[in-house]
Order: sequence, then structure tokens, then C-alpha cells
Amino acid sequence: MFRHFTALKKSCRIFVYDTKQKHSSVSYAMSAMKPDAMGIPLTQVVETLHKFADPSLANPWDNVGLLIEPTETKLVSHILLTNDLTESVMQEALDLKTDMIITYHPLIFAPMKSVTTRSWKEKIVAKCLENRIAVYSPHTSFDSVKGGVNDWLASAFEDVLKSSNPIEVNVSNPDYGCGRICILKSKISIEDAVQRVKEHTGLKYVRLARACRTDGFINTIALCAGSGASVLKGVCADLYLTGEMLHHDILDATHNGISVILTNHSDSERGFLTKFAFTLNDVLNKAVNVSVSKNDADPLKTV
Ligand SMILES: [Zn+2]
Repeated sequence: MFRHFTALKKSCRIFVYDTKQKHSSVSYAMSAMKPDAMGIPLTQVVETLHKFADPSLANPWDNVGLLIEPTETKLVSHILLTNDLTESVMQEALDLKTDMIITYHPLIFAPMKSVTTRSWKEKIVAKCLENRIAVYSPHTSFDSVKGGVNDWLASAFEDVLKSSNPIEVNVSNPDYGCGRICILKSKISIEDAVQRVKEHTGLKYVRLARACRTDGFINTIALCAGSGASVLKGVCADLYLTGEMLHHDILDATHNGISVILTNHSDSERGFLTKFAFTLNDVLNKAVNVSVSKNDADPLKTV
């Protein structure tokens, strides 16, 4: 999904992902953190997020990190996790009296020239400021990091996984990078792969393009959460797994003997948040109430 990487500070490699565990384990002591009964400072939460995935991991075109910061100091006692900060998620945040929203996709991406009520995004920014809610977005830094969104997607095949490595390797750390190329211990049928993706994502339906002229068995899977065509294109595999791809990219894949499973863009990303909620809760010493949005959903539905 992204082409260039900036150097990862070695001191920031704090979280260790264990492929045998559902959740990331943390290799550093959080005893230095002094949780307050009323929550912890925003700067401390941001510091913790940077330790999990440093913003320097994100693509240069991305807009990650703390995007909205209230002017008055306020302790964070409730964090709401969401894939997209939509109007309904904003209402949920207000109902929950949340202090901070972590939205995987950046709410502010293109530069904003005003904060008015003219557009839905401007209105959300205004509401966050009025209600002193901070907004943080990790986006492609969470894709790249080990134990992040792409590793979560790869864990759909956890019990048959022999190896999983980035497709585009981070120049500073070979464990980090864009997409994942997964080699299986033994081949599985395309039907089995579809079933695993459905179970892992909780989806009733996915879209499948079957490869031309193959036996339908899968040994190698190239995957990229979100819109992965630019990363997957030209990668040798039996199956591409991503959220969305264009028609002609799908035709290229199937005619090259590669099946394609599409989930819808955000359905290939959202499930990571549930896992991350446990991780964040642990590293913040349970001093903050972390919840995952119930209103957040992919806008596309199969009807
Ligand atoms: Zn995305």
C-alpha cells in the first residue's frame, strides 16, 4: 500500500508479536506509568501508541498521529476505537463521554481550509473540539508494524501458517513492512480459504474470483488489508486477499493463476481493533476504559 519507509527508531520496538498468541505481548515494563484513578494524560497515551507503532512507519503520503488535541489539559479515562470516524461513531463517542477517539483511517487527510458545519468531516472536527475529545490516527503505521493489521489478517490462516513476511520490507526492520506473503504448511482448498476468511472477519459473504487453469489449491497467500492492489500486483501467489481491487486487476490476477478474495475495504481491517483493545488496555495498566465502536461498519452491504 505504500512505497517508501523512513527509519524506525530501534528504541521504539516495544511490542513483540507472538504468532502463537491471539494478542500481542508487551516486552517492556509499564510500572513507570502511574495511572490516575481518573485516567492518564493524553501525552502518555500518545507515547504508548508511538511505542506500539512509530508514526515514522507510515507512508509519506499518509497523515498519522495526533490529529485533534483539545487546548485544555484533560485526563483520558475512556478511549473509543474505530476504523472510520463517521457521524454515527461521533454520536457514539459523545454518548459514551469518551475523551479520545483512535480512528484507524485518518479523519483529516486532505488539508482542511475551514472548520465549519459545511461538510460532515468539518462538523466532526468541530464536535471533537467542542467536547474536548482528542483524535489519533495510526493508519499505515499499524499496517506495517509486526502484530498490526496485516498480521491480524494473516492470522486467519494461523494454524496452517508456515511463515508470514512483509511483501515490501521496511528498510530498517525486515519484520515490518507492507502486505504479507504467507506460506502454508500444507495446501488448502480455495473453499477452505474462503471459510477461514469468513470466520476470521465475521462476514457472512466475501467475493471470490477463481483462478483460471489451476487445481484450486492454495499454498501461498499474498494479502494486504484495505485496498491492496498496488502492493499485490506482480506478487507470485495462489491467492490474493484484500479488501477491494479494481475489475481489471482482478482479471490480471485470475489469468495469471491467482484466485482473489475481497472482503470490502474496511472489513479487511476492522477486526484488528478488537485485538488491539486488549493490547491497549494492558499497556495502559487498565487505567483507561478502552472500547470498540459498535456503530463503525463498512458502508457497503451485500443485499
Ligand atoms: Zn483502509
